[in-house]
Amino acid sequence: MSDAQLRQLVLEHLRDIPDFPKPGVLFKDFTPLLADGDALRAVADHVAQRYAGRVDAVVGIEARGFILGAATAYAMGVGFVPVRKVGKLPGETYAATYTLEYGTATLEIHVDAFVDGQRVLVMDDVLATGGTAAATCQLVEQAGGQVVAVDVVLELGFLHGRDALPGREVFSLIVD
Ligand code: AMP
Repeated sequence: MSDAQLRQLVLEHLRDIPDFPKPGVLFKDFTPLLADGDALRAVADHVAQRYAGRVDAVVGIEARGFILGAATAYAMGVGFVPVRKVGKLPGETYAATYTLEYGTATLEIHVDAFVDGQRVLVMDDVLATGGTAAATCQLVEQAGGQVVAVDVVLELGFLHGRDALPGREVFSLIVD
C-alpha cells in the first residue's frame, strides 16, 4: 500500500470529537482505526517497514501509543517498552513532568528499560504541542536508550509540536 493510500485509509477511520476532554479541544479519535483489523495492520506494517533494521525496541506512550506501538513492535520482531503515567509502573522509575495541550502530566519509564545504547522508536497517535513526545525522548535517553525517531499517525501542525523536538527525526503520516 502506498503512503497516499494509507493516508486515505486512516483518514476514513478517524473521527473528530469536539470539546473532549474539555471545551475547546477537538479530539482526534482513533478507535475506528483500531477496530478495523486491516487498517490497524496496515498502519503497523507501514511503520515497521519504515524503520526496519534501524531500531531495537519500540516505546509506546500511554495509552493509545501502547496499542500502535505494541502492534508495530510485533510486526518488527522487537521488544516493546511502555512509558506510563505516574504511579503505574511497578519498578524503579525515572520521571518527567511536562505541559500538555490540555493540562500538565508526569510520565515514567523503568530505569532498566534498555540495554545501554539500544536504538528506540517512540510512538504515539497524535503529536500536538510535542510536550509528551519530548518528555518521552528525555526519559528514553535517561534510561540509556538512543532515540532513532518519533513516529505518530497524526500531527496537529498548527501546534508546532516539532519545535519541541529539535534535531530529532519526526514522522507523521498525516499533518492536519
Ligand atoms: P502533546 O504533548 O501536546 O503533543 O499531546 C500529545 C498527547 O496528547 C498524545 O498522547 C495524544 O494522544 C494526546 N492528544 C493531544 N491533543 C490531542 C487531540 N486533539 N486529539 C487526540 N489526542 C490528543
